[in-house]
Amino acid sequence: MNSDQFDGLQNEEAKIKIAEYLEEKGLGKRTVNYRLRDWNISRQRYWGAPIPVVYCDKCGMVPVKEEDLPVVLPLDVKTRPDGRSPLPEYEEFLHTTCPRCNGPARRETDTMDTFVESSWYFARYSDARKSDAPFDPEALKYWLPVDQYIGGIEHAILHLLYSRFFVKALRDLGYVEFDEPFANLLTQGMVLKDGAKMSKSKGNVVDPDEMINRYGADTVRLFCLFAAPPEKDMEWSDSGIEGAHRFLNRLWRLVQELLPILSPVGVAIRLDSDSLSSPEKELRRKEHETIYKVSRDVKDKFQFNTAIAAIMELTNTLYSLKDELKQSGNGQKLLSSAISTALVLLSPIAPHICEELWEQIGYKTRLAESFWPEYDEKALVKDEILIVIQVNGKLRSKISVPREVEEEEIKARALADANVQRHTQGKKIVKVIVVPGKLVNIVAR
Ligand SMILES: [Zn+2]
Repeated sequence: MNSDQFDGLQNEEAKIKIAEYLEEKGLGKRTVNYRLRDWNISRQRYWGAPIPVVYCDKCGMVPVKEEDLPVVLPLDVKTRPDGRSPLPEYEEFLHTTCPRCNGPARRETDTMDTFVESSWYFARYSDARKSDAPFDPEALKYWLPVDQYIGGIEHAILHLLYSRFFVKALRDLGYVEFDEPFANLLTQGMVLKDGAKMSKSKGNVVDPDEMINRYGADTVRLFCLFAAPPEKDMEWSDSGIEGAHRFLNRLWRLVQELLPILSPVGVAIRLDSDSLSSPEKELRRKEHETIYKVSRDVKDKFQFNTAIAAIMELTNTLYSLKDELKQSGNGQKLLSSAISTALVLLSPIAPHICEELWEQIGYKTRLAESFWPEYDEKALVKDEILIVIQVNGKLRSKISVPREVEEEEIKARALADANVQRHTQGKKIVKVIVVPGKLVNIVAR
């Protein structure tokens, strides 16, 4: 109101009209104002990177010469009981010469806030031994941006924001060629105890060292990864950790029992499937199915809990088939292969026990240096399929038949089934309907 031609306009519309008017008259132009505040990066602390600046009475504040970088903190300082930085009292660090006039000068004794360094350390890690520059452009091209960032939600507004800001500034200055420091983010959940976040003040903290002393690091890690998907909160449970311990012991006992017939045949070995018995095929299928599931769950989804469950299933299958398979040469090879596979798949989660068992089986190279196994698509196919048999629309039995079997053969086997015979006794078979791969319905009156 009271604004001549702008009277009666909605405010957003008015902003544009006023800006256009000012630009037309040459009185002003549109611009973007960033509401960034200055960031005081200095801290009166000993820890942190020194600020490479000296003070000279004649020249004022002078940057340290490039060839004298980095300024390194003295390591033999006495820390002060009041928590103040010992650097202002450390004479050898404090006194230096002015890079400009060579006269006496004093070093800056404040250090940088740790966020200054954590905002770009991933670039430094790409070539941490480089001594004449913060990073090597070729190494950056190979390593960065970081493929995967894993952190708690508290980083979402601090570290992630600062490092993005640093990378964008470095990009604009021409030092890096990428826009974003991290390609992928996983925000992990918290560990809860008795329904609450673990904290010292609540007194519900479980000491990992104590757990590791009692059960070993493999068990503790296995339990943590098995308890919940990584992005979910996880409830600490004493019975859960004992369950993880029992599983590792079960795997250990399995290998000890079979050790006389195991040999270092490698993982996911290929055998001519025509020469295999049905339980041999079953173990081979389970082995390849486990590789498929674990690879998918770990690589694509970070679902360690379901990956571990799959390895546990493979162990169960090994237990149920071992007595039959250890009798034959092929069976022994397949048991060796499936156990080796279980160890490779479990090794990122429980490296110590897997490496030990791997060596016991007779491998000469370390498990940690072996490749991730590849599954064989063909081995995943189930040879036998389960067919449901109905009599007059009611489920009466189930039979297992070979996948490639003829329809007439399925009919004959369905009619020969003992349960089916009981329900068709004294009746006339009117019709037998086969739904391939699924069911047989027998109509009897
Ligand atoms: Zn000077």
